[in-house]
Order: sequence, then C-alpha cells, then structure tokens
Amino acid sequence: MSSKTVIVIGSGLGGLSAAISLAQEGYRVTIHEKNPQIGGKLNVLKQQGYTFDLGPSILTLPHIFERLFARSGRKMCDYIPIRSLRPHWRNFFEDGKVVDLDPDPERMAAQARKVGEDPENVRRFLKYSADLYDLVNAGYFEQGLDNAAAFRKFYGLLNFLKFDLFRSMHGGVKRYLKTRHMQDIFDYFIKYVGSSAYHSPAFMNCMATIQFRHDLWYVDGGLYHIALGLQRLMDELGVKVCLNSEVVEVTKQDGRVTGIVTSDGSRHSADIIVSNMEVIPAYEKLLHEDDELMKGLEKFEPSCSGLVLELGLDRKYLQLAHHNFFFSDHQREHFHTVFRKRQLPPDPTIYLVAASRTDPTVAPDGCDGLKILPHIPHIDDDHPLTRDDYMAFKERVLDKLERMGLTDLRKHVVFEHCWTPIDIREQYYSNKGSIYGVVSDRFKNLAFKAPKQSTKYPNLFFVGGSVNPGGGMPMVVLCGQNVAKSVAAWDRQ
Ligand SMILES: Cc1cc2nc3c(=O)[nH]c(=O)nc-3n(C[C@H](O)[C@H](O)[C@H](O)COP(=O)(O)OP(=O)(O)OC[C@H]3O[C@@H](n4cnc5c(N)ncnc54)[C@H](O)[C@@H]3O)c2cc1C
Repeated sequence: MSSKTVIVIGSGLGGLSAAISLAQEGYRVTIHEKNPQIGGKLNVLKQQGYTFDLGPSILTLPHIFERLFARSGRKMCDYIPIRSLRPHWRNFFEDGKVVDLDPDPERMAAQARKVGEDPENVRRFLKYSADLYDLVNAGYFEQGLDNAAAFRKFYGLLNFLKFDLFRSMHGGVKRYLKTRHMQDIFDYFIKYVGSSAYHSPAFMNCMATIQFRHDLWYVDGGLYHIALGLQRLMDELGVKVCLNSEVVEVTKQDGRVTGIVTSDGSRHSADIIVSNMEVIPAYEKLLHEDDELMKGLEKFEPSCSGLVLELGLDRKYLQLAHHNFFFSDHQREHFHTVFRKRQLPPDPTIYLVAASRTDPTVAPDGCDGLKILPHIPHIDDDHPLTRDDYMAFKERVLDKLERMGLTDLRKHVVFEHCWTPIDIREQYYSNKGSIYGVVSDRFKNLAFKAPKQSTKYPNLFFVGGSVNPGGGMPMVVLCGQNVAKSVAAWDRQ
C-alpha cells in the first residue's frame, strides 16, 4: 500500500479504471478532466425524448469491468445493469440478403446456410478464432505485455509462430469462409479497433471469440450508465474528480514529471502522473517534446475516425435489430479508401444502432432513435476535409440506407445531430480525431501500441486506446488495471 499522490489526466474509461485500481492500491488519486462530465468517448446525448449513445454502444467482456468492483468487495450488477442481446448483429447486403450473428451454433448454422456457406466452415473459423484468443489473452491482454522482449520471454518462439503472423486478418478469414457475405461479416470484427481487415494481422481474428464465447451486452438506459456506476464506485473509494479542468502542461525536473498546470493557471504537484490523453498529443502539447521523440512515435498512427450521426424518427423500422450493419458492396475498396487513400468511401459499410428495439426508455413510444456510424479516415492535416465534404458524405450514407430498406428515412427525421472527425478531436483531444486510439496495422506496428510507462520519464504512465492493448472499452479498462500494477511494481523497486 502506498500513500503517494497520483494525478490522472482525463476521465475516459482507461483513466477511470486506472484511478479506481490505483485507489485500491492505496494511492491518493485526483482526476483532471477538461469536459464537464466524466467518461470521455463513453458519452450520451438526450434530446426531445431520445437518448443516444454518442460513443460506444456495444459492451463486450464485462468480466473485465467486474474486477473493478470485486476488488472492493462489491458486485457490478449493483452498479451497472447489463443484459445480453440476440441477435448480436443483423447484417444487410446490397443483394437483399440479411444474415444474423448468433452465438448459438444451431441458429448460426441456419444463418450460414442462407448465404450458401457450409456451417462447418463457420465452426472451423470459430475454433481458429478461439485458439488465437486464448493465445493473445494469456499474455498480451492479461499480463499487459508491452514490447517484443516481454513477448519473447512470455511466449517463446514456438508459441509466437501460432500467432499466424504471415497472414492478414482477411487472409485468416478467407482460409475458412468461402462466401463473400460471411467473409465480409467476419472481416468487419475489425470495427472494434477501427482498422482494416486487409492491413491488420491475422491474430486480430481473436475478436470473433470475444463475442461468440463471452457474449454481447447492453446496459439498460444506455451505455453511459457504465460511467455513472464507476462514478459511484469512485465516490466510495475517495477518488477526487475535477471537471472543467483542462491540463495545459506537465511540469518536469531532473528526468521526472513533477505535476500539472491547468488552464486556470493553477499548479498541482504529484508523485506519479497517468495520462489518459493519448500519447502523441500528450508528448507534443503537454510535455513539448522534441522532433526526435515525436518521430519515434509515428508508427502509432491513429485508428480511423467516424461520422457520428444521431437521428430521432417519428416511426420505427421493424426490420432493424438492436445492432445492424449495412455492408459496402466493395468492402476491400472501402478499407483501402479509408485506410490507405484516406478519402471518404463512395460506398461505405455503415454501423447502425436502434437501441429502442431492446430498451423502450430511449425513444418516444412508436419511434426509433438511430445512431449511424460509418468509419472514415482520421484527419489528414496536409489535406483536410471541410464540413461540406462531410455533409455531402452524410447524404451518401442516407441514400444507401434508403436504398437498402429504410424507405423514406429522411422524411421521418424529427431530430438530427452529427459529429465529424473535427468535432471528435475537439471533444476528446484524440489524435487526428481517432475514435479507437492507435491503428492495428501489420506493416506499421504489427498491432502493437505505445508502452504504458514513458520511455523518458519513469514516473509518467499512459492509459487508454493509444497504449497496449489498444482501443475498445474492455481493452482500455484492462489497460487501467495493468497500469496500476505497473505503477505499484515500479514504485516498490
Ligand atoms: C462513436 C464511437 C463508437 C464506439 N463504439 C464502441 C463500441 O461499440 N464498443 C467499444 O468497446 N468501444 C467503442 N468505441 C471505442 C471506445 O469508446 C474507446 O476505445 C474508449 O472509450 C476510449 O477510452 P480511453 O481511455 O482511451 O479515453 P477517451 O475516451 O479517449 O477519453 C480521454 C479523456 O481525456 C480527456 N482529456 C484529453 N486531454 C485532456 C487534457 N489535456 N486535460 C484534461 N482532460 C483531457 C478527454 O476530454 C477525455 O474525457 C467507440 C468510440 C466512438 C467514439
């Protein structure tokens, strides 16, 4: 147990998890958050009787969240009410085919047959995915491995080869699944980390198991209730939260960080700092590091961004499930356009949430509230897109949805809200408007993110989507727990 002071910069889920885990280790923790509410990208919009999740809408791996409560002798269900969803996703294709994802083998087999896929192929793919998950989970996730040396030590050469290193994620999918529909669906599990199935390594196929073994969850009343539940736990643990408190500088002396300066000019000292602001913006804007250090971080390119569109409707579209995907007819080109050409895709794959399908409290009676999220490139500062470019793209998205069955969608909109990558960067200070932190790319970083402990200042740590194991709610929560372990281990030395 330590009585040292820790400042956490930012209250995204990674920051909250680190703060809770450090308080459980006995540290005195204060969070400084620039926004008026906690949660970071876990965010909510309530308007005209509609409740929209502005950020994440799919909860996976709840057992990772559960640990935050169990370590304080509490039960997560007393703080955050969750339930699993069926189907997991509904997938719509331009040729009119509709396929549900369901973890029940019999029901999944029936869905595979609808598009001519041999159910045995799906079973074999899921076995391949489960083996990868067990491998990745044992070391990279649970041990919080951060670099090649730690990987070699934990896994050894023989296990390293089992990572299917010479294929892309799509290459792994194509080995087992033969129809375009099933390939497109399982390729799109890469959406969880905002990357491209054609450019990320094959071991990212572990993600199907996250859903098929551990299920897909909803939080009653909307996902922001996760933040509310964590706030209650923090209150009980004595974690202090300063809202509207933007950190503008991290002070340093003799190779260590010493504290922070906030936008009102006040100074706060700390023994240890944990930054939930992403690694690249934090080094650049708060620590003013030189070009040499910044150059070494270039491989940690941001993940994609998104156009986040919320529509309140005066009707329901009953063909929708809670989670839906409207697939590009040219998925390879979609990935290539977003992740290599960095342009707005002519025919995007669109994720659409109709939470009112499960939860009547999030929309007025007889109405749907839709969250629509196509993945689009992060901001390219050399060739920035304008708001008009993004709005023209929004019309393309609506055209596609109307064409694929949401007939007259535009005519039924009574409320609209839209965020572009520029808004996302402004809200969360994420690197170039990224929505999942660092991209997973086999050529740029082999899906590794930056290490959790600063390579320059030993008492500076990072947490969240820009450090290992990367973005997505459960991963940043796990990261917070692993950061606390790293802090305590370093502190004991
Ligand atoms: C539209 C969208 C949909 C998503 N869908 C899903 C999903 O369905 N499932 C899923 O698991 N994940 C999803 N994600 C990803 C998930 O939300 C993120 O990976 C995760 O919430 C990020 O947590 P984080 O710890 O990295 O911090 P962030 O959420 O990035 O928070 C960082 C915090 O730091 C604050 N901050 C930054 N700089 C400063 C500063 N200088 N001073 C003070 N405060 C500062 C910011 O205001 C912010 O609150 C989605 C994300 C988005 C945006």
